[in-house]
Amino acid sequence: MTHPAIICVAITGSVPTKADNPAVPTSVSEQIESTHAAFEAGASIMHAHVRNEDETPSSDPDRFARLKEGVETHCPGMIIQFSTGGRSGAGTERGGMLPLRPDMASLSVGSNNFPTRVYENPPDLVKWLASEMITYDIKPEIEAFDLSHIFRAAAMFEAGEIKNTPYVQFVMGVKNAMPVDRAVFDFYRATVKRLLGDDAPWCAAGIGANQIVLNEWAAAEGGHLRTGLEDNVRWDKHTLAPSNAALVTRAAEICAKHNRPVATPAQARTILGLRAAA
Ligand SMILES: [Zn+2]
Repeated sequence: MTHPAIICVAITGSVPTKADNPAVPTSVSEQIESTHAAFEAGASIMHAHVRNEDETPSSDPDRFARLKEGVETHCPGMIIQFSTGGRSGAGTERGGMLPLRPDMASLSVGSNNFPTRVYENPPDLVKWLASEMITYDIKPEIEAFDLSHIFRAAAMFEAGEIKNTPYVQFVMGVKNAMPVDRAVFDFYRATVKRLLGDDAPWCAAGIGANQIVLNEWAAAEGGHLRTGLEDNVRWDKHTLAPSNAALVTRAAEICAKHNRPVATPAQARTILGLRAAA
């Protein structure tokens, strides 16, 4: 396995706060700084949510705009991916930043349970978010919390609701959703191959201590990796992760172990079929 591996850094999320780990970047300036360090460590995609001053989740397009501008200035070529996830806003608010034309945006195509609530992604909202992504030339990253979400992505592609081959991310280890299960992971991979083609790229994210497990599995099997404080604030059982950059460095070491060079932003753009950097 020698083809380049993309490392995505999910810098903030909508759940962890500085009380969980002081390294979680929550202001826009902290987010830019943390992204820059992660970029230097090898991340070519940054996945972002934004927060209010009191660290609660926000969907304010102005904050997204400032973040995008800072990342474009300090991390040339890096792929910017905004979250349209349901913890940061309600209804069409979730896509309020899409007119900013980030390179990518996350797209959840079905509903499931989360630790304390239902993660609601009703079909009409999913369809609207997908159509906005076509309007603004944004590549969706399909968040597969369940097997049915891979089938839904394939059906949306078939129907022209997703423009290019869907890029699917397997999310495993969210409490009350799909656990980290090797047989399911292998079936997910086989399903992506069968429905979307042998060359369809895919990635995987594990929550908490499973972050490193999914990094290992993805690196070994030709997938792409996601790391960052959004999914995991700990380094190990006893220690907090020092930074997003440290987690990216660890993911890069896992790539090296599996003979996967870390993709540059330009290589990542080619693999994902994205436009060249602005
Ligand atoms: Zn996220």
